[in-house]
Amino acid sequence: MSEYDYDLFVMGVGSGGVRAARMSATYGARVATAEDKYLGGTCVNVGCVPKKLFVYASHFAEDYHHAEGFGWQKAAPEFDWPTLIGNKNTEIKRLNGVYKGLLDSAGVTHFDGRARIVDAHHVSVNDQVISTESILIATGGWPTVPEFPGSEHVITSNEAFFLDELPGRSLVVGGGYIAVEFAGIFAGLGVESHLSYRGPLFLRNFDQSVRQAVAEELAKKNINLHFDSNVERVEKNADGSFKVTFKEGNELETDLVMYATGRKPSVADIGLENVNVETRSNGAIIVDDEFRTSEANIFALGDVIDRIQLTPVAIKEAMVFAQTQYLNQPTTMDYEDIATAVFCQPNIGTVGLTEAEAREQYEEIDIYLSTFKAMKHSLSGSEEKSLMKIIVDRKSDRVIGVHMVGAEAGEIVQGIGIAVKAGATKAIFDATVGIHPTTAEEFVTMREPIAN
Ligand SMILES: Cc1cc2nc3c(=O)[nH]c(=O)nc-3n(C[C@H](O)[C@H](O)[C@H](O)COP(=O)(O)OP(=O)(O)OC[C@H]3O[C@@H](n4cnc5c(N)ncnc54)[C@H](O)[C@@H]3O)c2cc1C
Repeated sequence: MSEYDYDLFVMGVGSGGVRAARMSATYGARVATAEDKYLGGTCVNVGCVPKKLFVYASHFAEDYHHAEGFGWQKAAPEFDWPTLIGNKNTEIKRLNGVYKGLLDSAGVTHFDGRARIVDAHHVSVNDQVISTESILIATGGWPTVPEFPGSEHVITSNEAFFLDELPGRSLVVGGGYIAVEFAGIFAGLGVESHLSYRGPLFLRNFDQSVRQAVAEELAKKNINLHFDSNVERVEKNADGSFKVTFKEGNELETDLVMYATGRKPSVADIGLENVNVETRSNGAIIVDDEFRTSEANIFALGDVIDRIQLTPVAIKEAMVFAQTQYLNQPTTMDYEDIATAVFCQPNIGTVGLTEAEAREQYEEIDIYLSTFKAMKHSLSGSEEKSLMKIIVDRKSDRVIGVHMVGAEAGEIVQGIGIAVKAGATKAIFDATVGIHPTTAEEFVTMREPIAN
């Protein structure tokens, strides 16, 4: 019989925590969890899920418009924001229940409340102290807003999911994927949408062709892009709207300012001062290949370790952790060739290296690039262009990067991601017979490199 109440105590029931708890319990560990806010964490409550529902909602305006070219006259009905928010909240409540059910059926004991580390083998929740052999910190991340005059007036994505009213005008500040997604959501829902980014072009870590194509497409959709743009202050007007003054001298009147300028690991007030857990300067917990911190029985994974902040990454890290610790199958996390999507409109799908990274790492590469109007837009009246790019290591013929901007790019590149992970060569792409007529078939019909 163990001297501890539990073998594992998991702090935070988000994407990583719930999977680690469930699998560790399934492999025989006695597991307890604590959750401070919402079961399912960021992804389910204020991240991927409500975001994608909003993206779907915002796409209908364009779909109704496009439908007219196919004979559907006067197709656009009115949009009702409270209906969207209400239906979204109902769905998320259902998912919260699903997560509770997953923990219950795995035999995990769950505590509602904030967990704090008391010492290496004790955690407190609501004044109850629980002993545990190991602790897993899966507390995720939290949006950051820089301090500046008027910063108290701005919201983050957390609040954007619960707005009482849809604003008439919006300004999103930031250049990452959350910023471009929300600028698109607002524009699609009929809001006058502005995006301000301090650098010359947003989506810094993406392939240059993708970044340029997305900037062009968003501009076509009436999103006002302000690059090399820095907010100096935000003032609240008497009517509740805001005046934004930029360091460059220009001003903007808007009804909402949303900052999407990054997320920091959630390590405040979790009791780290009581143990020997090392962190990086931004608070990210430092772990080894087993997700073990500098305190031998304390582990951490997901956004709180700040490697790649994506739900499937947190889930995979949790699988690796549970298999290694409780199934006696030592496994390490493979961070190579992780496919990902950005749900701006049109979407981005990407896997592997950007052209710039490939040029640094390989002696000779071939670039295949195709930009075209998808078949649907021959009648829709839309000027939207799709972009597809393949990067090949000429020596081995291996496909080392695939990038797409276009409808359903995330769905398409998920499949291509398997081929890239399997080490497919360009010859295998060429030998693959396409599915016609699709946009995706372009990936197997590009024959002539445009550059090397
Ligand atoms: C707007 C937005 C959109 C996103 N879209 C995508 C997407 O499309 N695709 C994608 O893959 N990823 C997306 N992400 C990222 C994704 O949500 C995160 O990478 C993922 O949720 C990380 O999982 P996690 O388990 O590390 O942390 P989280 O899911 O954040 O879970 C951490 C949990 O710990 C809880 N907690 C914190 N401190 C304590 C404590 N002391 N005691 C108890 N509980 C505590 C928190 O309340 C939270 O529920 C998005 C994120 C945001 C913000």
